[in-house]
Amino acid sequence: MRSPVAVAAFWIGLYLMATLLPLLVLLFYPPALDQGRNWWTEFSVALGFIGLAMMALQFALTARINRIEASYGVDIILQFHRYISLVAVGLILLHPLILFVDNPETLALLNFPAAPWRARFAVLGTLALLALVITSIWRKRLAIPYESWRILHGIFAVAALTLGLAHALGVSNYLGLFWKVVLWSAIAILALWLLIYVRVIKPWLMLKRPFLVETVIPQRGNVWSLVLRPKGHEGMPFQPGQFAWITLDISPFRMREHPFSMSSSAEQPDRLEFGIKALGDFTNTIKDVKPGTKAYLDGPYGVFTIDRYEDAAGFVLVAGGIGITPMMSMLLTHADRQDERPFLLIYASQTWEDITFREELEALKEKLALSIVYVLRKPPEDWSGETGYVDQELLSRHIPKRRGSRQYFICAAPKMMDQVEAALHRLEVPIDHVQMEHFNLV
Ligand SMILES: Cc1cc2nc3c(=O)[nH]c(=O)nc-3n(C[C@H](O)[C@H](O)[C@H](O)COP(=O)(O)OP(=O)(O)OC[C@H]3O[C@@H](n4cnc5c(N)ncnc54)[C@H](O)[C@@H]3O)c2cc1C
Repeated sequence: MRSPVAVAAFWIGLYLMATLLPLLVLLFYPPALDQGRNWWTEFSVALGFIGLAMMALQFALTARINRIEASYGVDIILQFHRYISLVAVGLILLHPLILFVDNPETLALLNFPAAPWRARFAVLGTLALLALVITSIWRKRLAIPYESWRILHGIFAVAALTLGLAHALGVSNYLGLFWKVVLWSAIAILALWLLIYVRVIKPWLMLKRPFLVETVIPQRGNVWSLVLRPKGHEGMPFQPGQFAWITLDISPFRMREHPFSMSSSAEQPDRLEFGIKALGDFTNTIKDVKPGTKAYLDGPYGVFTIDRYEDAAGFVLVAGGIGITPMMSMLLTHADRQDERPFLLIYASQTWEDITFREELEALKEKLALSIVYVLRKPPEDWSGETGYVDQELLSRHIPKRRGSRQYFICAAPKMMDQVEAALHRLEVPIDHVQMEHFNLV
């Protein structure tokens, strides 16, 4: 098996090649049509082309391609998507800015009614790009609901890419030759194809493998367990800790799906359970879902799984609130596998009554080498256990002295995750032994 670092390095190499190769191809013989242009013009054009190639690649990053996700995990890919978009937008904006400074006469191209179409494409493409960035960075502040934002995001992205390409083809200094036009058009077509794959082909595949709601079980802490059974197929094999995108009671083509971690045992792929906390529009409806309701799953995804660490001597799981769901799947799976390696679960909740899956966890102690440290923010009066926050002192009281002998998994609210990660770092837990799952992708 190839090491995860080698696989990750391979994808980074491929990304750089895919970004720079189209530019290098443009420089091949025969050279640009207009040879009299100065260095700054050429430089700004190169930035524009690199930015355009990076934008096209964004479609691949967000197409949920299993092989890429298996190397990094979805939150790292989306993080990369966010940061690299800013770099691409920066490069694309620098392209006209350099031209305007180097040759102020080019400012006339901003006069929309009088400008040629190639310049109008550039202006419209840039506006689409700015709208894309603004609605993404300030989605919550602009009060754009997640579902509407997702549709807008797709529209702005396609508009920015096609208008950018139309601009490059219109200028045609580097794209004057037929085969170069074919190459750049192929890049854009590939990007659009990925969009069609995500929006049409994937939903169609999901339609052919439906699930039915078996039951909805109320749990402690305002959580509801949604239990699904496959209809006409063998279910969805997964690794404990992974998640899937769920579409409930509507066609998967509607693209109104939500990510949830499986909370059941991976040894039973024909009975999937999801622990869902009622927090918003969609999650508040789970309690009313009727048995027999159709559900569609896109998954499994994610690298937050103990199955990637077969050599680990044991595991430390740190969960906060609903972050218990992937941990639950890990524990149930290992109980089914009769795995004897030790588990330490440090589990933060508001109150004793709020502890989701409390009874199931206690029962698991009989089947696994499992110790549980409950940490309560509002403990009852007779509570003698841990209270407050999961900080360095608390962790040092419980985690094994030989820090590197275990793999550590953290899933909680963002602030708690950051604090636990920093505390583990100070306690000299090796960085590659700490795995995290963020429930807030956007
Ligand atoms: C990998 C992963 C695993 C998760 N596992 C669980 C789990 O096991 N149990 C659980 O209760 N929650 C889980 N979540 C969180 C869950 O997806 C959100 O709470 C849920 O989608 C919120 O939807 P809502 O409409 O009820 O809330 P809203 O109030 O509409 O949204 C609250 C916030 O949730 C996020 N969100 C909303 N809709 C989506 C969507 N379609 N896709 C992605 N994010 C969205 C947005 O940041 C939004 O601002 C997980 C999230 C991720 C990323």
